[in-house]
Amino acid sequence: MQLTDNFGRSIDYIRISVTDRCNLRCVYCMPDTIKSGCHQDGKIAIDSILTYEEILRFVEAASALGIKKVRLTGGEPLVRNALNELIRGIKAIDGIEELTLTTNGQLLAAMAAQLGEAGLDRVNISLDSLMPHRYAEITKGGDFNNVMAGISAAEAAGLLPIKLNMVPMAGINDDEIEAFVSFGIKTGCQIRFIELMPTVVNEHLFSSGFIGSDEIKRRIEMKFELVPLKLRKYGPARYFSVTSRSGLEPHGTGVIGIISAITCRFCPQCNRLRLTADGRLRPCLYSNIEVGLFEALRTKASMEEIQKLILQAVDLKPERHNISDGNEEKSGAPFIMSGLGG
Ligand code: SAM
Ligand code: SF4
Repeated sequence: MQLTDNFGRSIDYIRISVTDRCNLRCVYCMPDTIKSGCHQDGKIAIDSILTYEEILRFVEAASALGIKKVRLTGGEPLVRNALNELIRGIKAIDGIEELTLTTNGQLLAAMAAQLGEAGLDRVNISLDSLMPHRYAEITKGGDFNNVMAGISAAEAAGLLPIKLNMVPMAGINDDEIEAFVSFGIKTGCQIRFIELMPTVVNEHLFSSGFIGSDEIKRRIEMKFELVPLKLRKYGPARYFSVTSRSGLEPHGTGVIGIISAITCRFCPQCNRLRLTADGRLRPCLYSNIEVGLFEALRTKASMEEIQKLILQAVDLKPERHNISDGNEEKSGAPFIMSGLGG
């Protein structure tokens, strides 16, 4: 079955935030006024967080409608207990072809093998600096060595290809763009450069630190040859193969992605829905439109009723966001990214 929205886009991908809690406080994502840690002290009350059973029921309903790819995200998904059980359950659902996870990597080293055994296909790891002290500053306390150990463990567990998400910010880490490309060539990780998006916590940072994808690309091209790759029809990233210009280090070829959420809308290629940890289904990251599924899932509504709500969200999916029109208020931004799964 194929799920198509009112603008002819095929909707086959769902991002599921399994928690709004996180063990880090990245400067662009989460205010440090939200306490970190377990489910007792986050923004969403513990009894409003969907259980694994409820998430599985949702995925079952969505996959029967045409959803084929699932990404688990957060907050930090690895802080939620027994994530393996959810992974195993989702992989057993008919029609789910790909199950991935986005993580900050802090807890990955100890968990990668079990995640792979449970059926996880691959991971995206967020990493905004290759300098340990700078990484700790951006994440407000993250340990760079944990991420490196997480990358190695993910590789050993076959969670490939590993993609590293990097958000370049002027004056903070933009001097590392080329170093990240080199790191990708050396390690075989695909580097994805993501344009900084405005949220409630980063208005000042956004106005001083935003770097558009054209500038990111221009800087990379000073040292590397880029050749566009057509990896996927849908999705927000433009991919390129990347090779050092002749005579320059490192030798070899890698793959990078550039995600232009702001300057070059990827809305015409948008293939996704987002489910928040408390059961709100959002058809667009930058819109307030949402359909509440919590009640239906908690009261064990029938598959047909859950599917009706999913179809309602698809029907409400806007043609495009309007952030770059300077219309943030109307568009639903700024918001806290950790609550929506990025
Ligand atoms: N905690 C996990 C992590 O950091 O990978 C998963 C959740 S995080 C919200 C998902 C992705 O969103 C991360 O790669 C992060 O860098 C990105 N992100 C968060 N806030 C962002 C912002 N304001 N602009 C661009 N990317 C952002
Ligand atoms: Fe946590 Fe991920 Fe947000 Fe960083 S980007 S604060 S790791 S949810």
